[in-house]
Amino acid sequence: MDDTVSLPHEDRFFELRFESIGGLGAHAAGQILATAAVLRMGLNGAHFSSYGSEKKGSAIKSFIRLGPADKPIRTSAPVESPDVVVVFHRALLSHPATVAGFRANGTLIFTGPPGEIPEGLGRLPRTAKVIRIDAQRIAAEEKSRPNAVLIGTLAEAVPYFDADVLLQALTDEFARKRPEAVASNEAAFRRGTAEFEILSGVGRAEGDLPIIRPDPFWGYQTAPLGGIILNAGSTAWNDLSTSRSGWLPVLDVEKCIHCGMCDMVCPDLCLVWTAEGNKPVPDAVRLTGIDYRYCKGCLRCIETCPTGAMTREAETPGLAAELTQPLFPQLDG
Ligand code: SF4
Ligand code: SF4
Repeated sequence: MDDTVSLPHEDRFFELRFESIGGLGAHAAGQILATAAVLRMGLNGAHFSSYGSEKKGSAIKSFIRLGPADKPIRTSAPVESPDVVVVFHRALLSHPATVAGFRANGTLIFTGPPGEIPEGLGRLPRTAKVIRIDAQRIAAEEKSRPNAVLIGTLAEAVPYFDADVLLQALTDEFARKRPEAVASNEAAFRRGTAEFEILSGVGRAEGDLPIIRPDPFWGYQTAPLGGIILNAGSTAWNDLSTSRSGWLPVLDVEKCIHCGMCDMVCPDLCLVWTAEGNKPVPDAVRLTGIDYRYCKGCLRCIETCPTGAMTREAETPGLAAELTQPLFPQLDG
């Protein structure tokens, strides 16, 4: 065990909540942090996650509760009043539940590119410490995942953590499971400690934010008979934007030969085609673009395209909305 760390409050635990989308590594990050706290920082710690439907693209919350070694942690309730919130996907900031219960002097770390400040951050207390790091871009450049970058930022931004201790915990985890990924994750971690930006004048609220405990959508008196799924995952209203992890496929129509190879591998049928010429038998079927609402960012279309017409581009705010071609224009009406 390394040196014991002193936490700020004697009367309560120090609590963190990771708000994420399945696939970005929030659960693994929580596990690494809690394990480091217990095995290397002389603390008591508990960690668990709430997964929903447990698949890539679904919302997930990961909870970490830390306390002094002589104070047992006897609760496994979700963290409702966090001292620290780490947001792994920028789109989550539009939902009030992401910052629910946030403490007035808490720290919020979110991933996002430099520039525009997401509107949802205005819900934060004035006194909150707000930190931005472009974790998705760094992770892509280092061939890592956003969690390694965000653990690095957390280690540097929260004074009770030691960057060397957390880096060692991260490195040991990868050395055990995927030794070939140690170097890339260490590079991502180090950039997370160095490339973040502290934003000022962001929050507008006073004091601690209220806790939100959403009621179940359906209860035993209101649930549909027979367990019918009224809003299936495959409906035209299902928006997969949050499944993407920082990259978009972008079509260059000048290079496209309309061969349809990309459509054969696209799991979500989000490519938009037009039929030109006389109907019912058209002279030509042409690819015009992508409806990004249905694109999960798997990038199979790029790997398959024989002409290089599909390329990978970093998803900057508003790019998907600017490029999208509606697959079902009648929905937009
Ligand atoms: S990235 Fe995947 S989901 Fe998106 S258009 Fe390409 S193949 Fe389809
Ligand atoms: S695979 Fe490439 S060339 Fe073929 S239709 Fe798709 S984008 Fe066009």
